[in-house]
Formats: sequence, C-alpha cells, structure tokens
Amino acid sequence: MKCKKCGQKAVINLQHHNISFCKDHFLEWMQLQTERAIQKFHMFSKQERLLVAVSGGKDSLSLWDILWQLGYQADGLYLDLGINEDNNYSTDSAAITRRFAEQRGLHLTIIDIKGQYGENIPEMGARTKRGHTKPCSQCGLVKRYLLNKLALDGKYDMIATAHNLDDEAAFLFANITHWSMDYLGRQYPLLPATTGFARKAKPFYQFYERETAAYAILRGIEYIYTECPYSDGSKQLRNKRYLNMMEDEQPGFKTQFYLGYLRALKAGAFPQHQETAQNLEEKRCEQCGQPTQSNGLCTFCRLVNN
Ligand code: SF4
Ligand code: ZN
Ligand code: ZN
Repeated sequence: MKCKKCGQKAVINLQHHNISFCKDHFLEWMQLQTERAIQKFHMFSKQERLLVAVSGGKDSLSLWDILWQLGYQADGLYLDLGINEDNNYSTDSAAITRRFAEQRGLHLTIIDIKGQYGENIPEMGARTKRGHTKPCSQCGLVKRYLLNKLALDGKYDMIATAHNLDDEAAFLFANITHWSMDYLGRQYPLLPATTGFARKAKPFYQFYERETAAYAILRGIEYIYTECPYSDGSKQLRNKRYLNMMEDEQPGFKTQFYLGYLRALKAGAFPQHQETAQNLEEKRCEQCGQPTQSNGLCTFCRLVNN
C-alpha cells in the first residue's frame, strides 16, 4: 500500500475514496478537506471569531487543532459536566483539554456546571428523572444553552462543533426512522444565526470517525478514549452500529447516505430550516432574557432553578 501523493509506504487507506496516504500526506489531506468544507458552505472567515465546543475527545481536539493550523481565530469552550461515577470521565477530559490548549497557547474557557449552578449533570438528571435512568436530556439542554450563551456573551461570530459523518449519518437515520420533518429540514453543515441563536457550523461533516481518530493519533494529540458512561446502550450508538454494518457491506455507504440527503435538502425535499423567529422574538425568558417558546422561564432556567 503506497501513498498516492509521494509513493512512500502508506499508513492509512481510505477505502471509500480508493486512496492511501503516508502520515504527512494524510494530515495534509485532512486539513485541505476541512478548508474545502469551510469554503464550500461559506461557514466562516479568518476575520471572524469562532467558539469551538471541546470535550477532550478525538473529534473536537482534532477540529480545534486543524482550525488553529489553518489560521482561524478559534477559542475553545469545555463544559465540566461532573460525570465521574464509573470512571473519571469529566476530570480526565478536562485535564486533557487544558493541556491541549496550553501546549498551543490557545484560549480555553472552562465552565464548571456544579460550581456555577449547584448541581452536576447526574444530580440534575436524578432530580428531574421522569422515568429516565440517564441524564442525557438534561445534559443536552445544558450543553446547547451554555454553548450558545457563551458565544453570544463573548461576542463570537459563531460556534463550530466537531460532529463527523458517523454522527450525522446516525442522526439522519434516526430522523428518517421517525420522519421528523422539522429536524430533516435543518441537518445542514451550516445553520445561520437566528434571533438569540448563534450561527453554527460542522466543518467535519464529511469525515469518518476512523479518519478523525487517525488524525489525532498521527498528530500525537492526547485525547480521552473512554466514553461517557451514560452513552452505553444509547440509540445513537445503536444506529451507528447498524450503519457500520451497511458500510462494511458497501464502502462509502455513509457518505452516499448523508451527501444524498444534502442534495435532497437543497432540492427542496424537506422544509428548510426556519427557526420560528417570530415566535422567538415575542417571548423571552424572564430570568435570562433568552428566546423561549414557553411563557415565564426558559427550559434551562427552569432546570437550574431547583
Ligand atoms: Fe451527556 Fe452524552 Fe453523557 Fe448523555 S451520553 S450524559 S448526553 S455526555
Ligand atoms: Zn505521501
Ligand atoms: Zn432562561
């Protein structure tokens, strides 16, 4: 197996593209493809300030590394969820993220959820359980809210997240299974800003998980290997397993599935993303001032005002 670019021994074969690369040319290819995705969707420019959501995992640290190398103004936000029961998931991932930022002289904001709001994610989940054993819905709400809040308060132009092709294909699979037309209208790599919500981009939407992992390893990026203990048995992981079976049978399946959806979306097959801007304009949370669809407090303020 030889590198397509230089003929040296290849370290990775990208079966779906039918190409192999040596270490240096693979790293270069990942950066080039990221830049192309940014340009193709007009995601952001080098004059804009980006906030990257970092978790200490391979995807978010690889994304931050590539954006930094490409010369983008990217700061990081790490949310300390306080999930340390079975392993030291949060403590370890916070330490790794901090080291990553220090080594590169990058600006990182860490928000300690318990320190700031009095409870960590498992405690919020246990209090508001409503029959669920996992705190994932509270966790998702807190992450979305705080990421958006910091982006707006910190005058960032936008948020970049490291969702990869495996993530997007699994979301799409779930959305199609349930025919969730609202979500099907907005699973785009770029979501424009709407009232009270920052612009969001996913520059890694075209990379397989295996490629972002290879990038992190070959670049010598230390990342957290353990998963959040609550991810075990999740629907997202189950859908990823199904899609991996398809991919094994048919290399390139996930690319075809997601990129085909993007073409269908562009052709108007699903209602395009239009945040209910007018509704949001009319209602604001009495406590934090963020747009809300309910009267009084927004769902985040209701959750943390225990
Ligand atoms: Fe949060 Fe994900 Fe863990 Fe659920 S699995 S608690 S959403 S980090
Ligand atoms: Zn090469
Ligand atoms: Zn609020």
